Amino acid sequence: MVHDLELVSVGKTYADGTKAVSNFNLQVEKGEFVAFLGPSGCGKSTTLRMIAGFEEITEGDILIKGRNVSATPPEKRPTSMIFQNYALFPHMTVRRNVGFGLDVKGLPRAERDRKVDRILDMFDLTEVADRKADRLSAGQRQRIALARGLVVEPEILLLDEPLGALDANLRRIIQNELKLLQRELGITFVFVTHAQSEALGLSDRVVVMSNGVVEQISTPKELYLRPQTPFVARFIGANTLIEGRPLASEGGALGKAFNRIDTALGPISGIGPSGSTLAVIPAEAFRLAPEGQPGEMTLPGRVVWKQLVGATGHFRVRLANDQEIGIETHSDTARAQILDVGAVVTLGLDPGAVTLMPSNP
Ligand code: ADP
Repeated sequence: MVHDLELVSVGKTYADGTKAVSNFNLQVEKGEFVAFLGPSGCGKSTTLRMIAGFEEITEGDILIKGRNVSATPPEKRPTSMIFQNYALFPHMTVRRNVGFGLDVKGLPRAERDRKVDRILDMFDLTEVADRKADRLSAGQRQRIALARGLVVEPEILLLDEPLGALDANLRRIIQNELKLLQRELGITFVFVTHAQSEALGLSDRVVVMSNGVVEQISTPKELYLRPQTPFVARFIGANTLIEGRPLASEGGALGKAFNRIDTALGPISGIGPSGSTLAVIPAEAFRLAPEGQPGEMTLPGRVVWKQLVGATGHFRVRLANDQEIGIETHSDTARAQILDVGAVVTLGLDPGAVTLMPSNP
């Protein structure tokens, strides 16, 4: 099967010796929306620039629609890139900014004008087409950048933190527009962001990176419910991480697995790095119950903080090992059970929601 985009063991070492990306493998299908997510400096932009051809690859290969483009210059690749600051020409009109890529390709004037008019209309920019780009609002400039990227009809649109410069409100509006647009056009989008909500909300799959290495490639839901590495477990969502040592023999059921964790919450001694295990529990998996109402699996604790916000009750509960965890529950439940600060509680949780992983993979 030919993938729209394929990265095969791609790596990048900059001239000064900085190893920015290592052994990056990814296959993207036509029309997919993929986000690269990770903290600043983890190699997201470097990877995007390698796909666009602005940065040379030092290891591996990049294929677009089965064709190896590793040595192809950016203007010969079927990609368009949208930059965080939009990189518009401030003194050119909107129309000339949008038509720039077509001029570079040497398109006949009539055809260029037809394509530009169509895309200006699509992005609601017709009325401002003859204004200078620097006279427009942030939202309009964002749309110009998108129009300019799409008018050349790329196979793949590469977006480098394209919403970073917008305020929160506009960001939300444009996020929605972007998702609708992507569905409508069926173009493959590769999107770089350090904002978790943006990556999880917009994309079909997320590539989580840390220190130049791919940690996990999953759907947003899987990433949230089934983190595969300690980094992802800490970075995504609001997981509780409990470290312990397996007490039963390997291959026990999940119920058994929890017993091990439960036991580990008592006096913990003699846990060396080898065999050290991390239990990852999503915040939603916990249920708060007053003492004496054990769930399938239980952890005793004491409420140390609470706040009711609308329909949601937020709690911090201190466990027997002094670890504090955050829990959310419906505020009616919280009120009915009078779970005030100081209350002794039992946390119930679904064993199936617990993910176990080595703590030092
Ligand atoms: P991100 O987009 O995730 O913030 P980058 O891809 O920009 O990360 O950077 C990854 C690493 O490569 C960082 O350590 C950064 O300092 C380094 N880096 C980026 N560009 C260059 C460059 N031109 N020369 C040397 N090192 C660079």
